Amino acid sequence: MSDSAPGRAVAALRSHLATIADLRAAAAILRWDQETLMPPGGAEGRALQLATLARLAHERLVADESRRLLDAAEAAARGADPASDDAALVRVTRRDLDRAAKLPAEFVAEQRRVSAVATHVWREARRTNDFAVFRPHLEEVFRLARREAEYIGYAGHPYDALVDRYDPGVTARELETLFGRLLEVVVPLVRGIASRAGAVDPAVLDAGFDEAAQRTFALEMVEAFGYDTRRGRLDLSAHPFSTKFHRDDVRITTRYGRRLSAVFGVFHESGHAMYSQGTAPALERSPLAEGAGSGIHESQSRMWENLVGRSRAFWEYAFPLLRRAFPEQLESADAERVYRAVNHVEPGLIRVSADEVTYNLHIVLRFELEKALLTGDLAVRDLPEAWGGRMRTFLGLTPPDDTDGVLQDIHWSSGLVGSFPSYTLGNVASAQLFDAARRAHPSLLDDIRAGRFAALYGWMRDHVYVHGRKFLPSELLQRATGSVLTAEPYVGYLRAKFTDLYGLPA
Ligand code: ZN
Repeated sequence: MSDSAPGRAVAALRSHLATIADLRAAAAILRWDQETLMPPGGAEGRALQLATLARLAHERLVADESRRLLDAAEAAARGADPASDDAALVRVTRRDLDRAAKLPAEFVAEQRRVSAVATHVWREARRTNDFAVFRPHLEEVFRLARREAEYIGYAGHPYDALVDRYDPGVTARELETLFGRLLEVVVPLVRGIASRAGAVDPAVLDAGFDEAAQRTFALEMVEAFGYDTRRGRLDLSAHPFSTKFHRDDVRITTRYGRRLSAVFGVFHESGHAMYSQGTAPALERSPLAEGAGSGIHESQSRMWENLVGRSRAFWEYAFPLLRRAFPEQLESADAERVYRAVNHVEPGLIRVSADEVTYNLHIVLRFELEKALLTGDLAVRDLPEAWGGRMRTFLGLTPPDDTDGVLQDIHWSSGLVGSFPSYTLGNVASAQLFDAARRAHPSLLDDIRAGRFAALYGWMRDHVYVHGRKFLPSELLQRATGSVLTAEPYVGYLRAKFTDLYGLPA
């Protein structure tokens, strides 16, 4: 940042926006506490505190002063290198302000109120397996999502206006093409695996694994990946997440379940956290100090969880360390057995416990349904039936009830319509980025086999993490890999890995 007059105009905008960043960080701390330590009695007071912080941040963003400072900074940064921090700050702030300005304050308040009530009712509906009580609330959520799309505007499908909130620039049409390609590869793969279901045995993971030892092992691994625990920590929560207060305080949580799920949960969240810790210090306390989009963020969690954490190379390195943590449980096991077990494929009803092969089928199902709900082609009252039909088509399963069917996710009740595709975008981008890192470092797999992750971490830091939110997801991928998002590295990865694991005809 220079001391010239143009530099001063951008600096004035930055300092105005820094207050918003601080308010959001404060809210993130309150939410972290709410999920980890807060006693149940704190819920009501906490909701009020969070609402106040959100209101203050929003008011400051849409204030006349923001526009004035942005206009001046925009004029000052004209002609600057588009890849510079100044140009990116102005560009991203303009995008944020324009989007915020399109939504009337009463509408935003109504949306917040509806989703707060809907989430509360959803929990109860899920507990009692009663879709009917949730139905009117879900109708409201989609009515508001439709209105939001109209306020924001779109060229193609109303879905475009919603998905843009999570993955800027992505459209429904692009997603349809992407999912179409994935289905071409995944559906026959699932069928082939079903015919060889016994080929991979997960039983070695069914021995009881002590929680404290799992925690120690998982932390040892993610510290080796590059997660800096002097600038982070690991806690317990009902739903695992990662949260950033500042690049030097990025926390993760996990929960303990069957088959080392906590270990993979820690791998996953540490991927998000390394991204947040690796953002350039110069971007801190600005709107650029976040990821490029949910899909790119998810590419990092999934890369460390799956492309690294579920690779043969990784388990050749990690198995002796896992056995040191669990000598009795793994006495007669070996690296290959654990590698195979952590890649066991089994179509299931629940998205969050799905394996790598079937995971995206859960997403395409949700994508198709929410698109139809948005246009009115599907009525909310017909949703459970439509859900069941697609479960049978895609996964060959019939949900026994709505709790393990249409009521399983919190997303819709929270108003996050359009956010599911981020998970698949992340899977696809993870393979594309990993391939690019391998082209730059041909010995990458040997490094992983030797427990050396610095080349992979360094490549991701330099090509993804440092840039924060400076570039659109498509620009970031283009710069990092030489291509916009393409499904081929990912489908190639899935096909090669699971053809080998299940002994399928090549
Ligand atoms: Zn994630």
